[in-house]
Amino acid sequence: MTDSVVCGLIGTGIGPSLTPPMHEAEGSRQGLAYVYRIVDLDLLGLTVADLPRLVRGARDLGFRGLNITHPCKQAVIECLDELVPDAARLGAVNTVLFDEGRAIGYNTDWTGFGRNFDRGLSGARRERVVQLGAGGAGAAVAYALLTRETRNLVLIDHEHDRARRLADSLAALFPAARLEIVDPADLPAWLADADGLVHATPMGMAGHPGSAVPAALLRPDLWVAEVVYRPLDTELLRAARGAGARTLGGGGMAVYQAADAFRIFTGIEPDAGRMYAHLTDLVGREELEAVR
Ligand code: NAD
Repeated sequence: MTDSVVCGLIGTGIGPSLTPPMHEAEGSRQGLAYVYRIVDLDLLGLTVADLPRLVRGARDLGFRGLNITHPCKQAVIECLDELVPDAARLGAVNTVLFDEGRAIGYNTDWTGFGRNFDRGLSGARRERVVQLGAGGAGAAVAYALLTRETRNLVLIDHEHDRARRLADSLAALFPAARLEIVDPADLPAWLADADGLVHATPMGMAGHPGSAVPAALLRPDLWVAEVVYRPLDTELLRAARGAGARTLGGGGMAVYQAADAFRIFTGIEPDAGRMYAHLTDLVGREELEAVR
């Protein structure tokens, strides 16, 4: 009999996460007895302070690995024996592998965005990029861009201090890059000069309808990358297509972060195309239910 593979996701408010079904379906198609558990701190009446106990417990119970999400991506670092270099540089971990009793931290948010970017926007100029949103997703995206020839990254966030902290940490990692923090009101001027726009705020999700970028600012020679993936097609993406811009949806990032974690957990290369088809199906069903 094959050994079962048990993994999990630790965070808060993660009941509706689509990562568990993506992992389990791919595991089953790879012939694995793959179980992916949700460990929601809120539902368990736990807090970030319980993380060391949970990580130790998962290791002792034979979990192969964990995904880690809000609000635990930084706090989990203290619970680990080792970090791969990029996770250490980013200061955030979303994937933990248990390997011979050692807990090793990875970050597949940035590799996920990076792989999606390489696949969907290959050949696109990316020297000057404007990024909206400097939260958790924004940090991973900015790191991926700066490892991909972006030399001038403009960060815009309602929370100016958040953008400032991200810019400071990135400036230390990428000393040759020029990082600017600008006011949301100055978006039109900075966008006029940019090769691309990355959107990393929650605007466009069902709970935050609309777009953070006026359609009139979009143009054919500006690519637009989205991180929102529920829905897969956002108002921003539709407006960008309407303006003739190259676009990249957020679904690919969600799939590649899961696919990269799957490979880390199992040593098996998952079929990312198949996982994307599954995600499309899951999000489509969610959208259907929302209008019923
Ligand atoms: P977060 O709350 O950590 O950060 C969001 C940031 O956006 C905040 O700093 C907030 O101040 C800023 N913001 C909000 N509205 C703004 C606006 N109109 N203009 C400028 N700044 C604004 O959230 P997060 O975890 O970074 O997630 C952001 C989005 O990314 C969510 O929709 C989430 O679902 C999505 N996401 C996608 C993936 C993926 O794999 N595709 C992964 C992680 C997150």
